[in-house]
Order: sequence, then C-alpha cells, then structure tokens
Amino acid sequence: MTVYPNREAWLLAAVELLKPIFAAKKHLVPDDCQVSCGFASTGTRSHHIGQCWSRRSSTNDRNQIFISPVLGDPVQVLDTLVHELVHAVGG
Ligand SMILES: [Zn+2]
Repeated sequence: MTVYPNREAWLLAAVELLKPIFAAKKHLVPDDCQVSCGFASTGTRSHHIGQCWSRRSSTNDRNQIFISPVLGDPVQVLDTLVHELVHAVGG
C-alpha cells in the first residue's frame, strides 16, 4: 500500500487514477487541475463538502478544487472529488 505524505498528495494520486475512467467516457480531466484540502468559500457552516473554482475565476488559469477536511471516509472523499472533477472537465 502506498503511503502519501499528505492529503494533497493522496488527492492528486486519486486524480491520476480517475483520469482513465473519465477518458473512457471521452472526458478529459485537465492536467493542470489543482486539488487541495480546504473549506468551501461559503464557509464551514454551509455544509459544502467540495468546491471547484473554474479556470475563468482563477488568476493562474487553472481549475482549483477544494475537498473539505471534515470528510473522513475515503469513499466519500473520492465521491466528492469525482463530482468536482466533472466541473473541472466542463470548465
Ligand atoms: Zn457541483
């Protein structure tokens, strides 16, 4: 089993593993997609567990995904990540 140094490394590795699944459905996950562990812009009381800022609203022309640090179940993290990657594919 691979041990990752931090949550971001785990998330980025997950993105790499998910890319072929998206590609099989003819959807391209951008290579420059950034993924971090962090709270949504709507705050901690919003109960948002993920957020994707499109490249149009970023200063470095990249999609930025945030996955809430309150999530502890890896399956729910992956579920949320897949949802946010769909936004990155479209934006
Ligand atoms: Zn959404």
